Amino acid sequence: MGQKRKKLCTVCKSKGIRKEGVIYMPEHRLSLCEEHFNEWFEKRVKEAIKEFKMFDKREKILVAVSGGKDSQVLWYVLNKLGYDTDAFFIHLGIGDYSDESMEKVLALGELIGKKPHIVRLEEEVGAGLPVLQNYVRGTACSVCGRIKRYHFNKVARELGYNVVATGHNLDDEASSLLANLINWNLKYLARKYPVLREEKGFPRKVKPLVKHTERVIKFYADLNGIPYTDRSCPLGDTANLHFYKEVMEEIENHALGTKYRFYFEYLKKVFPIFSALKEEWVEGELTTCKVCGEPSPSEVCFVCRLKERVKKDRTQSG
Ligand code: SF4
Ligand code: ZN
Ligand code: ZN
Repeated sequence: MGQKRKKLCTVCKSKGIRKEGVIYMPEHRLSLCEEHFNEWFEKRVKEAIKEFKMFDKREKILVAVSGGKDSQVLWYVLNKLGYDTDAFFIHLGIGDYSDESMEKVLALGELIGKKPHIVRLEEEVGAGLPVLQNYVRGTACSVCGRIKRYHFNKVARELGYNVVATGHNLDDEASSLLANLINWNLKYLARKYPVLREEKGFPRKVKPLVKHTERVIKFYADLNGIPYTDRSCPLGDTANLHFYKEVMEEIENHALGTKYRFYFEYLKKVFPIFSALKEEWVEGELTTCKVCGEPSPSEVCFVCRLKERVKKDRTQSG
């Protein structure tokens, strides 16, 4: 959509130069050449960081990378903008998919001269995700999400990073806002913000790509030769997520700019009201896991319980 329309670069044109744009973004009414697209893309990332007071150049940032375009672009762009970043990748043990994702992360590390931190689930927990999902009720994604969150928090704390950055984009945020509003998931809505302040032993969580859509991020990745995998995870139960993305896209096509307005007006006008009620909606006190010392709602945390069960099964069958 839009991308095929060749127009002159808006910025070059304002300087009296006739240069063809490489991308046309109808939602911004902007056509940009390569140089001005990169400039515009990076400026909007900086604006999001500043507007939501995500972090500054004195802080150490851990970028949660998956090998996909969003998190790869995030690591690349934060590094280019001069922030102190390192990446963290969890090898989930999902066959070729995990191997290929890790290769892309390592390739980007080489490109920017940095070595990512890598944890292998098979070594850390005793089995990969395809096995672990059988131990717990819920979808592979819900188990995966809990395991990933645990490790991001743990690695950030142990290695001294006070900020964890993730590659969530505008499409992710607007579509999940829509899904959670439709289902009145108040607990989620009360925490729906591009920054979650550090609390109760958790690092600050930030989403610096919230001002960019998937299409624009992919374009930036391709334009700058950033390695990424576009394979989908074979265990993903993303049908619901895709459905809400498609609905959001339909609305956007009907009225350009709605996606952006829907999300950012929510942050400005509604989030402060919901956030004030957070204490009432977000249940449960946290304690400290007596095995690993990480924050947990129960005496022994989810991951330590999982480890124990895998170990017991191995002992019994071995
Ligand atoms: Fe994990 Fe689901 Fe993402 Fe696969 S799709 S990596 S299971 S969260
Ligand atoms: Zn230009
Ligand atoms: Zn634990």
